[in-house]
Amino acid sequence: KGPDPDLPIIRSRMAAIQHKIMILSGKGGVGKSTFTSQLSWAMSADDTKEVGIMDVDICGPSIPTVMGLVGETVHHSASGWSPVYVQENLGVMSIGFLLPDEKNAVIWRGPKKNGLIKQFLKDVDWGENMDYLLVDTPPGTSDEHLSCVNYLKESGIDGAVLITTPQEVALQDVRKEIDFCRKTGIPILGLVENMSGFVCPNCKGESEIFAASTGGAQALADEQGLELLGKVPLDPRIGQSSDYGLNFLEEYPDSPATTAYLDIIDKITQ
Ligand code: ADP
Repeated sequence: KGPDPDLPIIRSRMAAIQHKIMILSGKGGVGKSTFTSQLSWAMSADDTKEVGIMDVDICGPSIPTVMGLVGETVHHSASGWSPVYVQENLGVMSIGFLLPDEKNAVIWRGPKKNGLIKQFLKDVDWGENMDYLLVDTPPGTSDEHLSCVNYLKESGIDGAVLITTPQEVALQDVRKEIDFCRKTGIPILGLVENMSGFVCPNCKGESEIFAASTGGAQALADEQGLELLGKVPLDPRIGQSSDYGLNFLEEYPDSPATTAYLDIIDKITQ
């Protein structure tokens, strides 16, 4: 088998992007796509920065929904596939844009998935000056992760942010992600504990809804020598904002969740 003719093209596409960050989680539903969307909005609030999201969650792409882009389609041009732009400096590419309807979850086998990821990396035209590419991956450590990692590693990847919730089952799964990153040589930027505590809007009392008997993400971070980048509380308005594709940080600038998100984002981008 000779050298892969696509590799030089992928390399040069990826080399043009300053920072590449993967967002990982061990389980579905822990808030990975929500985190990716808030991260993208916060980064692109600086209009000197060009930001992109590449959603490689092939079996359940939720990025079009949380970014308010359901029903959009991707255009082809001479220079490749154009991402869908939320605003001038924020582009999104998702398998969701290629499906006939959003409920149409794809059940593809490994090689076809890998082919699509390769095509995303090779053919999407992110422009010449992209600062941040956020790669939203499916939960777990599947084929998609491996092919993504192999291609991204070649052209330099900043690292991965691991999202978890405080429950023991979620923490156990995040250990597998930590292992995966270590085995594949992806630096871990840190852990984020999402849905961490709830402040009752009526009595203002704080409850640990998903308290883990083992001390949650902080204990795991300590044990693994990783940084806990922050804890984002449960806030029903986050769910509402993402259902409607709204920018939560802008809608609720004073909420504790916004403070937590911005603090985490600061740590990732410094
Ligand atoms: P994943 O990408 O990990 O599968 P999502 O980002 O789709 O998870 O989030 C799952 C659900 O939880 C969504 O309905 C989302 O709006 C909601 N959600 C995420 N984070 C929070 C939070 N901190 N507070 C309340 N709801 C949240």
